[in-house]
Amino acid sequence: MHDDISLMAKRTDNSLMRRKDREVTDREEIAAMIAGMDTIRLAMNAEDGPYIVPLSFGAEEVDGRFIFYMHSAISGRKIELIGLSHSVGFELDKANGLVAGKEACEFSMRYQSVIGTGIARVITDGQEKLHGMRKIMEHYTSRYDWDIPEAVLTHTAIIRLDEEEISAKRY
Ligand SMILES: Cc1cc2nc3c(=O)[nH]c(=O)nc-3n(C[C@H](O)[C@H](O)[C@H](O)COP(=O)(O)OP(=O)(O)OC[C@H]3O[C@@H](n4cnc5c(N)ncnc54)[C@H](O)[C@@H]3O)c2cc1C
Repeated sequence: MHDDISLMAKRTDNSLMRRKDREVTDREEIAAMIAGMDTIRLAMNAEDGPYIVPLSFGAEEVDGRFIFYMHSAISGRKIELIGLSHSVGFELDKANGLVAGKEACEFSMRYQSVIGTGIARVITDGQEKLHGMRKIMEHYTSRYDWDIPEAVLTHTAIIRLDEEEISAKRY
């Protein structure tokens, strides 16, 4: 039992990616990978186990840490769970095409992916909500300065996720 626990602890250390040749550690490269991805998957702690939802997002890097913004209805299961525990996991990926082989075991998938943990909070400051919404818009339209009506912001929850750990892999 003790060995199982220490093995689990070791396996969650980012420095232990088995395929070192596929690991991406350069922050600029990771930022470029994130910029090219469409969906973030947010994993939360529910009473009966993990709860995961796909969401649209925007991102920025501040003081060497990624911040992700997501928007949502103001109620629902994820909002409730984030209120109960700010500690979350996240994942983003992009499949870059199937590589065919002659035998079944020679097939493989090209991909890039980012996973990590962080602290998620529903933000309440009006200016920060506007910024978060604009970062989401910017991610998909390459334009930041959208007008967002105040009534829309009032009825929208903006989730801010601050990176704690991150790892990236490309194949
Ligand atoms: C590509 C993509 C982008 C999305 N972008 C956004 C976004 O930017 N903002 C946003 O709010 N939502 C987005 N959604 C929808 C999102 O995944 C959730 O469905 C939504 O946010 C509601 O989550 P909730 O926890 O409040 O669910 P609730 O409405 O509280 O529902 C609870 C239950 O419904 C089921 N459920 C909820 N969501 C899903 C789902 N996506 N698939 C299957 N079962 C589900 C689960 O069993 C869950 O326990 C997106 C979905 C996809 C696929």
